[in-house]
Amino acid sequence: MAKKLNMRDRYKAMTRLGWEPSYQSKEKIFPYDKYEGIKIHDWDAWEDPFRMTMDAYWKYQGEKEKKLYAIIDAFAQNNGQLNLTDGRYVNALKLFLQGVSPLEYQAHRGFARQGRHFEGEGARVACQMQSLDELRHVQTQVHTMSHYNKHFDGLHNFREWHDRVWYLSVPKSFFDDANTAGPFEFMVAVGFSFEYVLTNLLFVPFMSGAAFNGDMSTVTFGFSAQSDEARHMTLGLEAIKFMLEQDEANVPIVQKWIDKWLWRGYKVLSLVSAMMDYMLPESPMSWKEAWEIYFEENGGALFKDLARYGIKVPSYAELCAKEKEHLSHQVWGILYNHTAAAAIHTWMPDEKKMDWLSAKYPDTFDKYYRPRFEHWKEQEAKGERYYSQTLPCICQTCQIPMGFTDMENDPTQVVYRSSEYKGDKYHFCSDMCKTIFDDEPEKYVQSWLPPQQIFQGNCGGEGLENVLKWYGFELGADNMDYVGSPDEKRWNEWHGIQDTKPTAAE
Ligand code: FE
Ligand code: ZN
Repeated sequence: MAKKLNMRDRYKAMTRLGWEPSYQSKEKIFPYDKYEGIKIHDWDAWEDPFRMTMDAYWKYQGEKEKKLYAIIDAFAQNNGQLNLTDGRYVNALKLFLQGVSPLEYQAHRGFARQGRHFEGEGARVACQMQSLDELRHVQTQVHTMSHYNKHFDGLHNFREWHDRVWYLSVPKSFFDDANTAGPFEFMVAVGFSFEYVLTNLLFVPFMSGAAFNGDMSTVTFGFSAQSDEARHMTLGLEAIKFMLEQDEANVPIVQKWIDKWLWRGYKVLSLVSAMMDYMLPESPMSWKEAWEIYFEENGGALFKDLARYGIKVPSYAELCAKEKEHLSHQVWGILYNHTAAAAIHTWMPDEKKMDWLSAKYPDTFDKYYRPRFEHWKEQEAKGERYYSQTLPCICQTCQIPMGFTDMENDPTQVVYRSSEYKGDKYHFCSDMCKTIFDDEPEKYVQSWLPPQQIFQGNCGGEGLENVLKWYGFELGADNMDYVGSPDEKRWNEWHGIQDTKPTAAE
């Protein structure tokens, strides 16, 4: 009788084929993992982060699926949406489905690609498994939120919106940038910066926000993804340590990528900051607190660990530490102004929320932002709710409208930076976005910038209405303020609440 292999040997037998090509050179088979300049001398030194065979993987994931779908079904059958804290909460889910779930799919494709192109077998197997995880994530998210799509606007056309709508080009451009980089840069961008350093600032706020606001279905998909995330973090860290250990010449390349990708990730997270502080009716913590725990403390410990390789904390960490007092308020202001062209609702915070913001941001909220918001509230009360009728100038790199202010000298002044390249002028929201552009201008001059595309007539034609039709919006339902929206009307009907404002139809 054949002897049964132990786990370790079994794993090795199933993941190390020992394939030595005979009629093609390795250079021809793996053409993409050399040109970035990363030097690998010994792929056998790669430590597999997952150590799971495919059969175990399918079994384990299948069990998680069964539990998740049982809870999603129960949530739907019990009309779980009625137990949310407030109808406004669903806008956090809209932002997630429009902005984040398509990134899971992009991650699926990206890891599948790296699973082909790394010469090392261990790295290939790990990337293939993560690729499958990411496909599962996008599917479970779409399935979970499909229930909300029966009862709320802003969810029905998320896939097309991700490719077309202006604020979604912020997360989309992050992944387009990563997926058009080489395999090692992709690992720093997604495996390390996104999965290892920033994921807690994305998933924890959404999942704890869901728990605080009665959304048990979202909490469940969060839990179902958590054990996958743990593996992804291990892969991201392994990939970066492997590069740093293989050759000293890799250190400055990796440092440049860390600086670039943590910044790009930070800019994507500015949308999350507004979600946390403004969209959640009940907030588990403020953006500032989350930044302190997950970046300053946890990230600080990580960089101490990486210091032995000569890796340093990015120079802009101090700027972020100042900006944490301002970020969410500025981004909410941008979204509020441009809600006519967004598939989410915005609104002015009520008194309870304003007081919470004052308490969480004692040095900035009352001084800079409360007066602005109170002015906008007065406008609303007069029936003059402000919607911007023009297109903003956006940053060529992160694609966010200019709205970040000068943390050094005067936080009321917007920062503008620019570069000239081949006779054209390009605009940036910050020094770091300019630095990223200046390092690879040929890449970023190709960026698909929504306002420029609209002005060139590539988005449905002239005028806002044509653009919104091209977006695929249900006008007056997907966009505009929450107050007076069909979402609000339905919510109020379910709960026997008098409308705060008559809708146009009445
Ligand atoms: Fe994922
Ligand atoms: Zn920028």
